[in-house]
Amino acid sequence: MNKKQIVTHLTKTPLNVLCEESDFITGKYLTDKVYIRGLVEFSNYCVRDCLYCGLRKNNKKISRYRMAYDEIISSVKSIIKNKIKTIVLQSGDDFYYTEKMICAIIESIKDIDKDIAVTLSIGERPLYEYLAFRKSGADRFLIKHETINSRIYNKLHPQQDLKKRLKIIGYLRKIGFQVGVGNIIGLPGQTIEDLADDILFMQDFKPDMIGIGPFIAQKDTPLRKNEFKNIPLVLRFIALSRIITKYAHIPATTAMATLKKDGQLSALKFGANVIMVDFTPVKFSQEYRIYDNKIRINLKKAENIISKSGRIISYDRGDSLMKGADHGRF
Ligand code: SF4
Repeated sequence: MNKKQIVTHLTKTPLNVLCEESDFITGKYLTDKVYIRGLVEFSNYCVRDCLYCGLRKNNKKISRYRMAYDEIISSVKSIIKNKIKTIVLQSGDDFYYTEKMICAIIESIKDIDKDIAVTLSIGERPLYEYLAFRKSGADRFLIKHETINSRIYNKLHPQQDLKKRLKIIGYLRKIGFQVGVGNIIGLPGQTIEDLADDILFMQDFKPDMIGIGPFIAQKDTPLRKNEFKNIPLVLRFIALSRIITKYAHIPATTAMATLKKDGQLSALKFGANVIMVDFTPVKFSQEYRIYDNKIRINLKKAENIISKSGRIISYDRGDSLMKGADHGRF
């Protein structure tokens, strides 16, 4: 698809046409399964200062927490007890957890059950650390590119650089991770053409996973006054991502559920095929405030949404179906 066609689909193509097409592609390439992933948000400390995120280091209004090794493993065990085969470990960019500590956590999970897939979402690290995580058995890495417009990226992410981000993304793939990228829709200053460029980037990179989230600024951040409510645009973007990448795993995000009742159900209808279930202990998850009023998705809620969508609940690993994806061990 070229940029002009993408812009047309993002602005003019009737929503129901995009819905039908993406639903057809989902059924054809990914079957009816919706995968459940078990999420542990183990630290809300972050050394970065992204202008919209409640975890930014300069937000003094948030209570910070770090889960200890035993607490993380205990949450992991609850996920495994529920027969869920993918664990997602997420945090701010928190260097309190050294390479050695993260490797020990990955290895402990694999010792409990070697067939569990471990996904990391822990931000930017030196390249050699990613290699160590991979060697310890981590299977997947999520690191959203946020926006492919470098001017907007660099403005909203002080002291960060899109070029560096993309270098990391390329390196993660090179060392055999299944790689998830993704963007935010509705960033201040972002145009439809920018979103089309995000799609073109994904068309070219062929990510294994894509996290697509509506822009929600946390109330104690510099961008708090910027509101975004264009859910149909997010659904168009999800549908196009499905149509273009065909095989990528696309979560129906918690942000969608937060902005709109039945937001995750809508995302599933437009091509999403994953739901993340929060296994972070409640006392901590309240404080994982990337944005406010974040809905907590428990297993029962996720199962209800999937049942409503008429699709099949899957607790399997759901590895990448992208051609050439590495499903083996390092
Ligand atoms: S968006 Fe990520 S890197 Fe930026 S402040 Fe929030 S947690 Fe940190």
